[in-house]
Amino acid sequence: MKGWRGRILRVDLDRGSACPEPLSEELAGRFLGGRGLGVYWLYSEALGAEPLRPQNLVVLATGPLTGTVAPGAGRITAVTRSPLTGTVCDSSAGGAFGVRLKHCGYDALIVRGRAPVPVYLEITPQEVRLEEAGDLWGLEVPAAVARIRARAGALSSVVAIGPAGERLVPYACASVDGRRHFGRGGLGAVMGSKNLKAVVVSGRGRIELADEENFLAVRYEAEKLLAANPVTAQALPEFGTAVLVHLVNQARSFPVRNFQDGYFETAEALSGENFRARFFRRRSACWGCGIGCGRVLAMAGQEWEGPEYESIWSLGADLGIEDPETVIRANALCNRLGLDTISTGGTLACAMELSSRGLGPEGLTFGAGDKVLQLIPRIARREAEGEELALGSRVLAARRGAPELAMQVKGMELPAYDPRGLQGQGLGFATSNRGGCHLRANMLGPEILGIPKLVDRLQAVGKAGLLIYLQHNHAALDSLVVCKFAALALSEEHFARLLRAATGLDWRAQDLQLVGERIWNLERAYNLRVGFGPRDDTLPPRLLAEPGRGRPVELSAMLQEYYRFRNWGPDGSPAPAKIRQLGLEGLLAP
Ligand code: SF4
Repeated sequence: MKGWRGRILRVDLDRGSACPEPLSEELAGRFLGGRGLGVYWLYSEALGAEPLRPQNLVVLATGPLTGTVAPGAGRITAVTRSPLTGTVCDSSAGGAFGVRLKHCGYDALIVRGRAPVPVYLEITPQEVRLEEAGDLWGLEVPAAVARIRARAGALSSVVAIGPAGERLVPYACASVDGRRHFGRGGLGAVMGSKNLKAVVVSGRGRIELADEENFLAVRYEAEKLLAANPVTAQALPEFGTAVLVHLVNQARSFPVRNFQDGYFETAEALSGENFRARFFRRRSACWGCGIGCGRVLAMAGQEWEGPEYESIWSLGADLGIEDPETVIRANALCNRLGLDTISTGGTLACAMELSSRGLGPEGLTFGAGDKVLQLIPRIARREAEGEELALGSRVLAARRGAPELAMQVKGMELPAYDPRGLQGQGLGFATSNRGGCHLRANMLGPEILGIPKLVDRLQAVGKAGLLIYLQHNHAALDSLVVCKFAALALSEEHFARLLRAATGLDWRAQDLQLVGERIWNLERAYNLRVGFGPRDDTLPPRLLAEPGRGRPVELSAMLQEYYRFRNWGPDGSPAPAKIRQLGLEGLLAP
């Protein structure tokens, strides 16, 4: 197999065993890699396994472009069943872990079971070892990563959890080398439930391509397009993802104080421009990426890994906090302790609104930065009032008698866009198979940036087709595995040509759409089988009833269109003809 390595590694923590096995060409052709393969294994081998039980899987999977010089191809996808939502869940992270895993000779790692004591897994091209991690248990992410890398060497990359994962906070993340994060959905808690502190991979190598000359020619063309695109050539390198603060705020879609408003009067203080002027030290990038959207900042005589747009919002505007220094500190705390910044901020925002209505927790007010900095470690360690906040906004708000104040879908806290100013994004949140998420299909492209074309952001009807196209596109990108920012400048045709040259197989753009649709429907089938249904394709009542700075989301009209375009029945399940068309009949047989 060219592009792929043709081998996966299975680790059983109950038995302490590791076993390589071949990756079938047929399976790779149907699901590509990353998210696609992970969802396939989760469905076929662990359907319905409780998220924090040993039967649940942790899949870390690369794709056929991982480790090549294709733009944005240094990433990796994790798949598991989420303890936050109970849905199928994938999460993508940058860094070099995927590249090193592939250099060890594996396309994917599948972990099941639960070790009797804390362990970490060490993978090299020569061997696979489980090492006791008693001395690492309790360490924050940077300390654990530093200790493991000192043992494994400079050519290693580490996925590790922090105290939040160990204590099974359902929105605990796992981090790559402490700098990039599998943020959403609680992968950290699933690793914690398995007593798996970390996985370290070390190796160096080269991915064999079917037609290297042609591959380099397409890559040359892609680099020129990336260099000519204002987002990938200027906005992201210069300001990082925080460049979006002004854009989204001007569209009155920057959620403020738990989505009570869509415009932050003091957004300037949190803008990418202000961060650059006050704190910028240098850019950082995932392996092999020329865009380099990461930030390293200087503040108070120290270097800080810069907050992304989403974290600036969740730990800033959504909490009514305008001080960028507080946001930088809060973001660093989440990263060190292993917490998803979006869910942490969303839960704190919910708690603040509950408190403002006299429903407790006591003394937590919007804008209280010092209190937020105190609470984050308590959440991660589930201490004092942190215990309740660690449960996430849905459980917190329900316990306090106001479930409508949790800004979440399927249990996952919403990201940094108020859909009352971006109607299509609202449909995207509601139909997202891992819960409230913009990365299943980011309508920011068409509704704000004009990519692939500008559409009226306040218009609802007519959005479903475009959203579905993006849902398939993003599922394919997560399976190749490549960065979605590179796709802002490149079309599916470019990725199909790269895939053709890498694998020697006849991939076309429409094939990527088909793979994406297959993955999407399989995820849907997983969710239906574990109890989700159309009633879960919804939004918090506030977004459906109050205008905010735009209009209430016209969800029911968009959903009707969406189900019809998808060829799903009124119960939300794919029609038999659709299942056959996608070649899923063997897998989805009742
Ligand atoms: S654009 Fe940013 S997130 Fe994407 S690969 Fe490059 S550095 Fe990583």
